[in-house]
Amino acid sequence: MMGYEACVRCGLCLPACPTYLETMTETSGPRGRISLIKAVDEGELDLLSPGFVEQMSQCLDCRACQAVCPSAVPYGPMLEEMRARIEHERAASRPAAARTVRYFLLEWLFAKPSRMRAAASLLRFAQRTGLTAFAYPFGLRDAVRLAPRISDHFFVADDQRFDVPIAAGTAMLHTGCVMHVAFANVHEATVRMLNRARLSVVVPRAQGCCGGLAVHAGDPEFARELARVNIAAFERSSADVYVVNAAGCGSALKEYGALLDDDPAWRERAVAFAARVRDVTEVLDAMEIPAPRGRIEARVTYQEPCHLVHAQRVSAAPRRLLDRIPGLERVEMNESAVCCGSAGIYNLTEPDMAERLQARKVGNIEATGATIVATANPGCAMQVAAGLRAAGIPASVRHIVELLDQAYSSSLQD
Ligand code: SF4
Ligand code: SF4
Repeated sequence: MMGYEACVRCGLCLPACPTYLETMTETSGPRGRISLIKAVDEGELDLLSPGFVEQMSQCLDCRACQAVCPSAVPYGPMLEEMRARIEHERAASRPAAARTVRYFLLEWLFAKPSRMRAAASLLRFAQRTGLTAFAYPFGLRDAVRLAPRISDHFFVADDQRFDVPIAAGTAMLHTGCVMHVAFANVHEATVRMLNRARLSVVVPRAQGCCGGLAVHAGDPEFARELARVNIAAFERSSADVYVVNAAGCGSALKEYGALLDDDPAWRERAVAFAARVRDVTEVLDAMEIPAPRGRIEARVTYQEPCHLVHAQRVSAAPRRLLDRIPGLERVEMNESAVCCGSAGIYNLTEPDMAERLQARKVGNIEATGATIVATANPGCAMQVAAGLRAAGIPASVRHIVELLDQAYSSSLQD
């Protein structure tokens, strides 16, 4: 694969790169990382040299560079291939205990939604009783601080149907891993909004995690296993569109064609599936729904999830949806498309840079005077909310679908 040959070293990607903006260092930007990738691929630099591993880890895989590159350098796939190669080399020499922890956190837990729910139930108990403090001596203070607040109830995929009388089509809802235990209210709001858009909604039980986290962590084989489960579930559902309300998942699901390109039995099915995946904001924006009558009198700023704006190139639809809400004053923040430092488990693997980007984002939000930050991805919601809390800024973070649902629910027209 690769593709670094296309890079003409113009540097147009540098101002878009969050880690370059923070460090102003060539190697911490896309152009420098591409040079490193080329050197490794051509055998001039060792795959496990500390500087190279550090840069492959420090990159957020936010795709901001890829989105602005005039030469269409496939930066994301190159980075992910390198991470997979590093992970493959390291796996053999990793101590058994570390292998077990990694397997538990990145594979076992994500392989089945029921396991995620069991772990989330424990975490919820610890969060409600204050027992999370017992994790601090084990170096888990950051993990506890950044963990999402687990929902009081879960949104469990259980073959539900939410029908509307004269449906324009049927949507399958992707319930995901973290979303269904920590953002159950967003799923419920999504179902109501899709119904208002005259789409029936089905929620097949036989679905699961999108595999995005596994790809980021250099484990594409596990991601392929998860992808096959979701493709088969969608095919059986006979739905017209596969709807996602988490930008990171949507981006991974739309890339199933590339993920399964080397699997002749699944390649065509994966391409057909990916063509039907839509972010919920794309779907709602495309459907003709009368504007809500309910008002939200608030100043709102939109934080663009990297995997929506850069990876999926969806940027105008979320703003148009917010602009439909009467009373809502939308203000643009500076650098709304610069990563907030969430990026999967980045705030655990690269805590210093994650914190710098979080503080940068919080400063840009504060400058708008907004009391609500709208977003469309759970990782961004958690990272931004944690940053606002730490800075003592009394703004709340809401998914766009929640805001829309609130506006429609408080009017009598639906
Ligand atoms: S990756 Fe693209 S934008 Fe960046 S230096 Fe290379 S050609 Fe230019
Ligand atoms: S993916 Fe994001 S962090 Fe990585 S080089 Fe590109 S712009 Fe920078």
